[in-house]
Amino acid sequence: MASEFELIARYFTPAAPGPDAGVPLGVGDDCALLAPRPGRRLAVSVDTSVANVHFPADAPAEAIGYRALAVSLSDLAAMGAEPRWCLMALALEKDDEAWLAGFAGGFHALCQSSGTALVGGDVTRGELAVGVTVMGEVPAGEELTRRSARAGDVLAVTGALGGGAGGLALWQRGERDLSHPLLTRYLKPTPRLAAGLALRDLAHAAIDISDGLLADLEHILAASGVGARLEPEALPLAAGLSEALGESAAYRAALCGGDDYELLVSLPGSVLKEAQRRLAGQGLALTPIGTVCVEAGVSGVELGGAHGWQHFRGGKP
Ligand SMILES: [Mg+2]
Repeated sequence: MASEFELIARYFTPAAPGPDAGVPLGVGDDCALLAPRPGRRLAVSVDTSVANVHFPADAPAEAIGYRALAVSLSDLAAMGAEPRWCLMALALEKDDEAWLAGFAGGFHALCQSSGTALVGGDVTRGELAVGVTVMGEVPAGEELTRRSARAGDVLAVTGALGGGAGGLALWQRGERDLSHPLLTRYLKPTPRLAAGLALRDLAHAAIDISDGLLADLEHILAASGVGARLEPEALPLAAGLSEALGESAAYRAALCGGDDYELLVSLPGSVLKEAQRRLAGQGLALTPIGTVCVEAGVSGVELGGAHGWQHFRGGKP
């Protein structure tokens, strides 16, 4: 196996970041040096993706690289933060050059399209797993948190729901055509970064839907000390989901399936139209799915014991 230094040099040392990247010193020293812009807060998050827990080990390497960064960037989107930098730690069992080239290609492609500079990497031998730390900036006081939903707010979601769980179900059935929209949703989710920025001054609270709509909604409700009434018939289902899973499983996937990486926002009804107009400019829908109320808990849906991603854990590949 090539040494860690050789692998980092070959695959994870991007071209020197430009002068606007805020990286006085990048990959290659003991630490990177970063220069956040004045007046901004640093938003930081880490996610570890483990083979056969969070993604199928036999997924295309390019998708694994892309996805590992996408799920971390999704947390920046939920805060209304603009991505700036990331760190990546990869454990892999064998030194497979073609696999590494694919992985790095997927990772770098999303770095580039999201404006995220890779400023440090670590490669070790071990069971396939990827840890990605992302760092973004948000003007002080403008960050979106989970804590500020208010009774009377409208709850709305970006894009469509259930695609992550639908894609996983298809993968488990042997579907391997990555251009299938549900497989794309599962293996190459789009972090809603532009939506987070566009909603920053309109929404009271936001979260990204990684563990399932209900589970993540409950995080907002608990943090804000409020409850919610949902209208399940309003849920925007991912294209092709009902056809792939059947109608009732499709709704369950939209409510409880993980890996959607859409944003759930709580915002005053008076700004809903403006929020929808801004996202329409990005080609993205913003669908109202319920309201925030004073009474604790979630009404309007039959929970039936299904609680988010945990519910699907046993079914992960
Ligand atoms: Mg999150």
